[in-house]
Amino acid sequence: MTTVFHRLWPALKTSLVIIIAGWSPGVYSESEVTDVRFWYGPDKTRLVLELTSAATYRVFSLENPERVVIDIDQGRLDQGVELANNAGGLVANIRSGRPEPGIFRIVLDVRGKLGIHAFLLNPSGAYPHRLVVDLLPGENGGEAHSAQLDLREEDYLVVIDPGHGGEDPGAIGGSGAYEKDVALGIARRLKRIINWDGRMRAILTRADDYYVSLRRRVEFSMERNADLFLSVHADAAQRKSAEGASVYILSTDGASSEMGKWLAQRENAADLAGGVDIGQQDPSLQKTLLDMGLDWKIRESYDLGLALLGSLEQVGGLHSRTVGRAGFAVLKAVDIPAVLIETGFMTNPAEEQALQQELTQERIAGAIYRGLSAYCDEDERCPPRTRNENIYVVAPGDSLALIAARLGVSVADLKRENPNRARALQIGQKLKVPL
Ligand SMILES: [Zn+2]
Repeated sequence: MTTVFHRLWPALKTSLVIIIAGWSPGVYSESEVTDVRFWYGPDKTRLVLELTSAATYRVFSLENPERVVIDIDQGRLDQGVELANNAGGLVANIRSGRPEPGIFRIVLDVRGKLGIHAFLLNPSGAYPHRLVVDLLPGENGGEAHSAQLDLREEDYLVVIDPGHGGEDPGAIGGSGAYEKDVALGIARRLKRIINWDGRMRAILTRADDYYVSLRRRVEFSMERNADLFLSVHADAAQRKSAEGASVYILSTDGASSEMGKWLAQRENAADLAGGVDIGQQDPSLQKTLLDMGLDWKIRESYDLGLALLGSLEQVGGLHSRTVGRAGFAVLKAVDIPAVLIETGFMTNPAEEQALQQELTQERIAGAIYRGLSAYCDEDERCPPRTRNENIYVVAPGDSLALIAARLGVSVADLKRENPNRARALQIGQKLKVPL
């Protein structure tokens, strides 16, 4: 049989490795691909096709050279969609074609053997039907490789979790800014501050613009035996005038306010927008801790929340002076003190503008660090302060404006306190901190 096959099909040098197919009712209606997006994460490349209806599709790989092929029955590409500009990560080149009438095909030239996971998402929020194709390095997906910081057992490890990412923009401001970008900007700055100071160590659950499932964020923190979990977000409200930062912890018996309840529902829905295959979800995210561990966790989270409110109040308005409580999925499943910080409102025009500014982000990150450090002073697991609080050591990339924002002081005060400073800042140079 094999010989006959080869003689009949001499041109077929490739072999079919994997086929994933999906279909849905209403099979024969035409489906238009209205947008194609790529997200390049550290452990996968995600391709998202927006569709006007649920389509029947096949995804398979071909060898020599390595390709991934996506066929959509009765599919066609909207005229405005540019495919070629999207290549990157594991994808070297993108083409589309029509191998036979009624089938729209996308071919990805990829770098090496890849694992494939594909699934359809039903419309959610502003999103229409979506076909998600995840490409994973190595034939079986390989192991997730994340940027490793040299971690030691005794480190006091803070996991910073920038909310949303990739497909999931989070809250969207009136002039179009995304919560996911604000959260990532502040989280990156906070990470840099923590690691430069050296008392604690910090890592991010996501380092760029891609989506990480709520479950994966929790696992990430558990696998590394983290000591604290901080989820960084920006808020949304119907009322445009709502403003200021708030801090939430897990509630086990309902939300402390209507706002908290609504907020937790919105944050918990991130997986729907971010694109998580519900069929693959594990119920372990729903696990509840033993009562004793839970009491400890909630008590500590509350103390951490209070310390953060105290420091955030110094650099901007608070939305609420009390630590809010609501049923956030991402806070529920971690077994360490965990808070969710809403750094301001994307829906407030002035805050939307401010939250995108470098100096505002630095000011908030600096304030979060001071709150963290104050909490740490009271936590016996945390090492003592390593530096004289009255001295600031200049870090790479610093400017006087950035340092002042980070310390929550004015540039004028910083200059006044350091009249003899060298004209250009040097890394490692010591500055007096204005009190
Ligand atoms: Zn959020």
